[in-house]
Amino acid sequence: MRALITGGTRGIGLACCRLFLRMGYEVTATYSSDEEAVRAARGELPEVTFVRADAADEGAMRRVFDGIPSLDVLVNNAGIDFFAQVQDMAYADYRRVMDVNMGGAFLAVKFAVPRMLSRGGAIVNVSSIWGVTGGSCESVYSASKGAMIAFTKALAKELAPAVRVNAVAPGAIDTAMNAGYSEEERREIEGRIPLGRFGTPDEVAQAVYFLAACRYVTGQVLGVDGGGI
Ligand code: NAD
Repeated sequence: MRALITGGTRGIGLACCRLFLRMGYEVTATYSSDEEAVRAARGELPEVTFVRADAADEGAMRRVFDGIPSLDVLVNNAGIDFFAQVQDMAYADYRRVMDVNMGGAFLAVKFAVPRMLSRGGAIVNVSSIWGVTGGSCESVYSASKGAMIAFTKALAKELAPAVRVNAVAPGAIDTAMNAGYSEEERREIEGRIPLGRFGTPDEVAQAVYFLAACRYVTGQVLGVDGGGI
């Protein structure tokens, strides 16, 4: 069994690499430009093949899939956030967020599906709670993650029964993406989460693995958010 995880060098993607590896998968993971993170990830998980490929670069993503003989699970995890009020965002910022988050998922699915149709497979898209409820000052990020949810539901119908397609919608998870919060901001966010804390990357990976493994679930969006924010 083989899994491809985009954005696998840190945070949620790295936790997915660990878990799929432990469950017996051969794992290939992509990353963008964080050479320091990939060195650490290679050191920890020498069995994983880490390939530099920008999720929004069609040629690079095509080459990643050309290097994979077969594929059972695709996890579309690579993503970037952008905190700003909408009027302060340049169109180029909008395009980059949409290109990486939604465009990256599109490209990976486009190349994965021909490898999955005959033998079956599962796709898990890493969306966000903001793609469901909308996040203030993260409007374009929220839009990209909402698009991934619609993409998930449409693909689940289009690709059934051969390929199952589901999504996770994490809440506040302890990763580099949230490292910028002050202690006070963190406490304020934790105060709004029913379970009272940020989630861990491993907790999201467990949900991703469940959706990849459970053969009677498709078209679903599983919140991994401590009850919401
Ligand atoms: P992170 O910043 O710690 O890791 C991101 C990973 O994606 C890294 O491996 C990085 O190399 C890779 N990446 C970034 N841009 C890329 C690109 N253009 N091409 C290929 N790889 C790229 O982030 P994280 O917090 O682990 O987030 C992972 C996913 O989970 C993202 O899609 C994010 O939107 C989503 N998410 C995170 C949270 C959270 O609170 N951390 C909440 C909801 C959703």
